Amino acid sequence: MTDFDVVIIGGGPAGLSAGLYAARAKLRTVLLERGMPGGQASTTDMIENYPGFPDGIPGPDLMMNMDIQARRFGVEPRFTDVLSVAEIPEGGFLVKTSDGEITTKTVIIAAGALSRPLGIPGEEEFRGRGVSYCATCDGAFFQGKRVAVVGGGDSSVQEAIYLTKFAEKVYIIHRRDEFRATKVLQEKARANSQIEFIMDSVVTNVVGNDQVEAIKVKNLKSGEEKAVAVDGVFVYIGKDPSTELFREFVDTDERGYIITDARMQTSRPGVFAAGDVRQTPLRQVVTAVADGAVAAVSAEEYIEYVK
Ligand code: NAP
Repeated sequence: MTDFDVVIIGGGPAGLSAGLYAARAKLRTVLLERGMPGGQASTTDMIENYPGFPDGIPGPDLMMNMDIQARRFGVEPRFTDVLSVAEIPEGGFLVKTSDGEITTKTVIIAAGALSRPLGIPGEEEFRGRGVSYCATCDGAFFQGKRVAVVGGGDSSVQEAIYLTKFAEKVYIIHRRDEFRATKVLQEKARANSQIEFIMDSVVTNVVGNDQVEAIKVKNLKSGEEKAVAVDGVFVYIGKDPSTELFREFVDTDERGYIITDARMQTSRPGVFAAGDVRQTPLRQVVTAVADGAVAAVSAEEYIEYVK
């Protein structure tokens, strides 16, 4: 007899949705989360494309509601670090955490993804002293100041717009002359007079004394390098999946994302993956919650018919 039917690793939209579906199916469910439930979505100022909220909904509110709803059906998050997951010879899985060991019939990996660093001089040194990966968390520190946002995807453009609530000037620095971000966001950013675009350019250095004072920006077409005075740098150049623990355990692609089938089944029977952690064409809250629901139903079927 295992301790649980389902162990869910990660408390973002995918994990909370998996928890909701698993608990409603009366599976003995535990959700393991390293920090606060909500994942990356709770660090997003406003989510405008989650259906059902015509005026958008702040990321923290949406995630708090998902957490409350999952708990209402009996999901009890445990705040702990997962150290390893292994198969038990007699069936099921052993999950070692910083607070002890848990046995389970199935595992749903919903560990999400983490911000990718630029990997340039000064970035690590000034992390938390002007270098940030979360505008929602740190934007308010830059009231009336100048900040740079690096990247050309939805995150960089959306968070740049958000930062104009505080900063008097926001530079968006992108390495190409075209954005990856959706047109709606681009148009919103272009209409905002506080935002200035620095295209075809990369940041090569973050400089300062106690705090960030400037960045060096290199134009990739002309080769010209210049200093831009800023008080903060927000890095939004994509994410890497949180899959270090699982790469020997389930198949991943060349970027480390877990490969699943349409039922969220990984290469190891009884282990499922959902949300940003898996190889998928679209990483949004709406796809993460859908993945979580499918993974939970698949886990239920696995317990019922396979084991
Ligand atoms: P992303 O779409 O992967 O964009 C990353 C951006 O960073 C790209 O523009 C990329 O440039 C640039 N980049 C990558 N490595 C770089 C480097 N070393 N130096 C400089 N620039 C670099 O990541 P994201 O914006 O975080 O979005 C992740 C996912 O979440 C996407 O699927 C996105 O649609 C979704 N998302 C959606 C919303 C929304 O719908 N409101 C909001 C946030 C995020 P290139 O373009 O040249 O590759």
